[in-house]
This record gives sequence, structure tokens and C-alpha cells, in this order.
Amino acid sequence: MLSAPPTIPFLDLQAITAEVAGELHAATRRVIDGGWFVLGPELEAFEAAWAAHCGARHCVGVGSGLDALVLALWAAGIGSGDEVIVPAHTFVATWLAVTRAGGTPVGADVDPATGLLDPAAVAAAVTPRTRAILPVHLYGQAADVDALRSIADRHALVLVDDAAQAHGATYRGRPVGALADATAWSFYPGKNLGALGDGGAVTTDDPALAERLRMLRNYGSREKYVHELAGTNSRLDELQAAVLSVKLAHLAEHNLRRRALAERYRERLAPLGLPLADAGRGTHAWHLFVVRHPERDALQAHLAARGIQTLVHYPIPPHRQAAFDEPAGRFPHAEALAAEVLSLPIGPHLTPADADVVCDAIEAFS
Ligand SMILES: *Cc1c(COP(=O)(O)O)cnc(C)c1O
Repeated sequence: MLSAPPTIPFLDLQAITAEVAGELHAATRRVIDGGWFVLGPELEAFEAAWAAHCGARHCVGVGSGLDALVLALWAAGIGSGDEVIVPAHTFVATWLAVTRAGGTPVGADVDPATGLLDPAAVAAAVTPRTRAILPVHLYGQAADVDALRSIADRHALVLVDDAAQAHGATYRGRPVGALADATAWSFYPGKNLGALGDGGAVTTDDPALAERLRMLRNYGSREKYVHELAGTNSRLDELQAAVLSVKLAHLAEHNLRRRALAERYRERLAPLGLPLADAGRGTHAWHLFVVRHPERDALQAHLAARGIQTLVHYPIPPHRQAAFDEPAGRFPHAEALAAEVLSLPIGPHLTPADADVVCDAIEAFS
């Protein structure tokens, strides 16, 4: 027998797409009928809109969030022999980007209350080979950029932010996207601002960095068949750019719905001591709503049995993946989080009433 679909799906992408389907059909038809598919007016329009949204001077659209990170590091001059400090609790792409850029990812532990990069751990990880700090605004909440910036300034390091989960987040009144030397974005379909396929971008205030990024994404070229840099092919295509312009117009509203859900979760679950802390340094984008429970796997099974779909972000820290293969015990807070975090259903498709169903089920477990 087929099992019934979950009563409360973790993220209902189909519902999110259906909500704006008319606009998406019009936008994609415009591109198809226009007959221009790479590096054209749709990309320029989206780049201008996203830069403005982020309060940044420049936006360069690229092929994915991973490429945004790699190209940002590349454009900042990071390469072979360079160490880049990354959080020990993050999606593996943060670490892979450093490796792909030719550098060495050096982990630093996170604040166990928030899961965000701990500036004290970063300061302790700096060596003479350190060239950059790469914080992640994990789950939609900005890392402590001011503290990280002062460490970067003290050691003449570049600050590149991984904002793949933080569309619409702010930090001390400033939008994420204009805080670091370069900020990398992903528009993977499941992100708060998602395309209908892969996509990414880098925002920056630095015109020289933006110019290098434009060359690097397009074979190192600014003039056809003249190649100044050994670049790559990683461009946000016209169809995805047109889709993103449509989705961007709904981002604020969708984030508000996420916020309403997160507020209900917090109201109900904070008394049980379950949610990760909101550091209170700005607007949380609530890409994920994460609780921490010592019996995480049992709680997840309990919720699944009640039709509530949850996910774990992330079950194995990057340093414990075979790809990096570092010893256990090096980053105790990150390792404990990997064993205990659980992401509850959240997204513009859900309502606070759905959050109540989830909270009732959690209370029944506790
Ligand atoms: C999604 C994500 C990425 C990678 O983005 P892609 O577009 O999937 O390549 C990088 N970092 C974090 C924190 C992410 O969540």
C-alpha cells in the first residue's frame, strides 16, 4: 500500500510555485519569445533589483550558490595555500567552495545557542596563512558580522558572507548583502528566494571586485574572444533571472508568513527550551526553524508518525565527511548540534494553525 502524503509537508514548493504561476508563465514566455537566453536584459534587470534590495552597489548573477562562493573567493584573490576560516556547523558547500577555489578550509566552532560562527573561535583559528573569514548566516539569521569584521581588519583578512539562507535578513539595521566585502547568494528552488533551477549571485560594493566577477563567470572575458583571466562558465541565465524577478516581488510577503509561523513556534516551544536562540541582532529570514532535542531521532520519528515532515540541517558536520576527513572532537558544539537539531516545517505555504498542530505533537512527545 502507498503511504499517505505527509499532512504537514516540510516545504510545499508546488504550492509556492502555483501561487505565482500566472506571472511565471508570462515571464518565461517573454524570454522564450524574445529569443535571448544568456547575459541579457532579464539578468541586468534582476541584478539591479537584487543589488537594490541588498543595499549593495553591485550584483553579479552566477550559476549556483556554490559558484557564487567560489567566484567571490577567486575574485578576492584567494587561492592555493590560503586558509579560509569557515564555521564547523554549516552545509558542506561552504567548505567545498574554499577547496574549489584552491584554498584550505579551516573550521571554527559555533555558538551552541544560535549555531552561528563564534568570533572567539575565529580569532583563535587565525594563522599567518589565513586570508579570509567566511561566516554563514545560517537558518536565516545574520552571524555577528561586526565582531568578525574587527578580527578581519586586525589581520587584513577578506570577509566573504555565505547568505544562501538569508534572503531578506538584516543585521543591526543593515541588510545582509552589504555587510561583507562580498556576499554569496543561492537561488536554489528551496531557498527563501528560489529559481526554477539552479542560480546564484554575489553582491558587493567594490566595483573592481564586481568587474572581476563579471569576467570570471564568463570565461575570464569582458570583450568577446579576449580572455584576461582563466575564468569559468557560470552565468545566471535569462529564464532564471526572469523567474527571480517575479519571485523577488513576493519575497517580503513570503518572509512575513514565515515570521508569523516562527513567532507561533517560539511562543509555544520556548517554554520547553527547544528553539535555537534568536540573537536579536536584526531581522531573521526564518529560512529554517530549528529546535534542539537530546532525543532528536525519536522526536523526528514521533512527528513523522503523525504526518509531520521534518529535516535535519545537518546530520554530519563538514569536517566529519569523508571529503574532509578530520578527526572527531575537534568542534564539540558543531558535533553536538549535528546530533540534536531538527528543522520543523516552515514556509509561505503554512499558517500558524499548522504550527499549532506541530507544537501539539511535540508537547505530546516531551
Ligand atoms: C544552499 C546553500 C549553499 C549552496 O547553494 P547551491 O545554490 O545549492 O549551490 C551554500 N551554502 C549554504 C549555507 C546553503 O544553504
